[in-house]
Amino acid sequence: ALVLGIESSCDETAAAVVAGDRRILSNVVLSQLDDHRPYGGVVPEIAARAHVSHLDGLIRRALDEAGVTLAEIDAIAATAGPGLIGGVIVGLTTAKALALGAGKPLIGVNHLEGHALTPRLVAEVPFPYLLLLVSGGHCQLLAVEGVGRYRRLGTTIDDAVGEAFDKTAKLLGLGYPGGPAVERAAAAGDPARFALPRPMIGRPGCDFSFSGLKTAVRETAAALPQPLAEQDKADLAASFQAVVGAVMVDRTRRAIALMPPGSPLVVAGGVAANKHLRARLEALAAATGVPFVAPPIRLCTDNAAMIAWAGIEHFRAGRRDPLDLKPRARWPLDAAAAAPGAKA
Ligand code: ATP
Ligand code: MG
Ligand code: FE
Repeated sequence: ALVLGIESSCDETAAAVVAGDRRILSNVVLSQLDDHRPYGGVVPEIAARAHVSHLDGLIRRALDEAGVTLAEIDAIAATAGPGLIGGVIVGLTTAKALALGAGKPLIGVNHLEGHALTPRLVAEVPFPYLLLLVSGGHCQLLAVEGVGRYRRLGTTIDDAVGEAFDKTAKLLGLGYPGGPAVERAAAAGDPARFALPRPMIGRPGCDFSFSGLKTAVRETAAALPQPLAEQDKADLAASFQAVVGAVMVDRTRRAIALMPPGSPLVVAGGVAANKHLRARLEALAAATGVPFVAPPIRLCTDNAAMIAWAGIEHFRAGRRDPLDLKPRARWPLDAAAAAPGAKA
């Protein structure tokens, strides 16, 4: 199968063509970083307008680079949520128009499922596997039991981990986007200099919490000579990153014990681009004797190849969505949380 994927749920406008045998024929991503940088974060209305301006051209490019026409595509997959609703509407409506015009099936993809299934785009990863989903809006441990079958083992009770990176970067004046900036600064820092709280470590269950850590970073920074020296920033960034790593390892170790023995450990989402975290999770997997899979960095951050791939997995399973499919701002992955009345 050949699937066109469209992603527009946040500040990346993206289109990709992926084949069922895992070949990524094209993967075009336009980041809106420069549009949002003056505001220090993503502005929903600016994002939606930028998607409108760029999406048509990006789809054209994705098809051209793949060397295929719309007629040769088997299905059109687009992010249908969760995310900033204006952007989701732009991508999903474009996909519906293309599907109707070209007479192709439409598949609405959960953006988180795009992240969750990415490991299977890069390697033969059998179900079930343990997924640590770490992104701008989420921090969850999920048992991935099949396509569309996710069981949540743990989640953050306050901030997402990407959010914690972004806020720490802002506090330290490291610039935007925050995650890569903290990682860069941390490389020159001493991770042992500041004793920050290590939230949730040693507690039962697999939940996360990052708001206390964020507060501790703010208070520690405020107690240092102002303006902050470069070395102080680097040391604080390194200390923060080390605590996040320790929390990830502690929580993930507990989740591994809940999985059938030998189930692979997979990390996905934008924060999975962080080399320190990848190394620590890889070491944990080695120590517990489970395979470890981390997608290449360009497939960890938002892209449309992962949406096309999730589309392929659902296409194979026979799923086709109606043209009146509703975009969703909130859309939890696991069935229990998706039940009416449940909290996302
Ligand atoms: P979600 O997927 O939950 O809807 P999102 O799509 O906005 O949210 P992603 O694009 O998957 O999130 O990830 C973006 C997040 O990843 C940002 O918070 C960013 O700071 C973080 N991030 C990116 N690179 C790194 C890195 N090298 N180290 C740490 N964090 C990173
Ligand atoms: Mg983004
Ligand atoms: Fe994402």
